[in-house]
Amino acid sequence: MPERSQPLAVLTSGGLDSAILLAESCRAHPRVTPLYVRFGLHWEDAEQEYLRRFVAAVPGAQPVVTLRMPVEDLYDPGHWSRTGQGVPEAGTPDEAVFLPGRNALLLVKAVLWCHLHGVPWLAMAPLECNPFPDGTLEFLRGYTAIVSQGVSGSVRLHAPYRSLSKVEVIRKGREMGLPLEWTFSCIRPEGGRHCGDCGKCAERRQAFRDAGVSDPTDYARSLPCTA
Ligand SMILES: [Zn+2]
Repeated sequence: MPERSQPLAVLTSGGLDSAILLAESCRAHPRVTPLYVRFGLHWEDAEQEYLRRFVAAVPGAQPVVTLRMPVEDLYDPGHWSRTGQGVPEAGTPDEAVFLPGRNALLLVKAVLWCHLHGVPWLAMAPLECNPFPDGTLEFLRGYTAIVSQGVSGSVRLHAPYRSLSKVEVIRKGREMGLPLEWTFSCIRPEGGRHCGDCGKCAERRQAFRDAGVSDPTDYARSLPCTA
């Protein structure tokens, strides 16, 4: 657990969870740097634009640092995450949106950035429901420790939302008065907007409904059942 006097970096995709964590961290720590890792995926231009707007509205955040971790030599050129074609629809199982190695790739440069900049803590926002093998606290902390060990460093991972649900995180963001309309969850954006019916948009809609919080998202399409 970082002390309030310590700076930290926050792995931030611009999604609800990491954006809210970023804003909450800025209220508790003196220097908070958002780290965005760019893989070269289909939705990242839209995601980064939303993140830019969100960070501009959060007092105390340092400018976003973008780290590049291109996967075009790793993922198949036809993979939905690169092309935007065949993107998992609403109702598909969680495994459908699994990106192999996502958290290892996210963490390696982020941990090294913290080490090189004297930042002792790296925060990220996995939730209680994270279904992926690289989303466990054991993996995240262990991997961070191994990368740190490789540079004789001491960067540690902070995952304060690990026991929270998305509903609880949305309510937290609402109570903090954050501009949740500038968070971004879509994996098939259209004209820079949330598409409205990919698997991630469906999850987002449902979470706002379950939280009893008005959904401020600008969706390109309504789902038939919510129109
Ligand atoms: Zn979408």
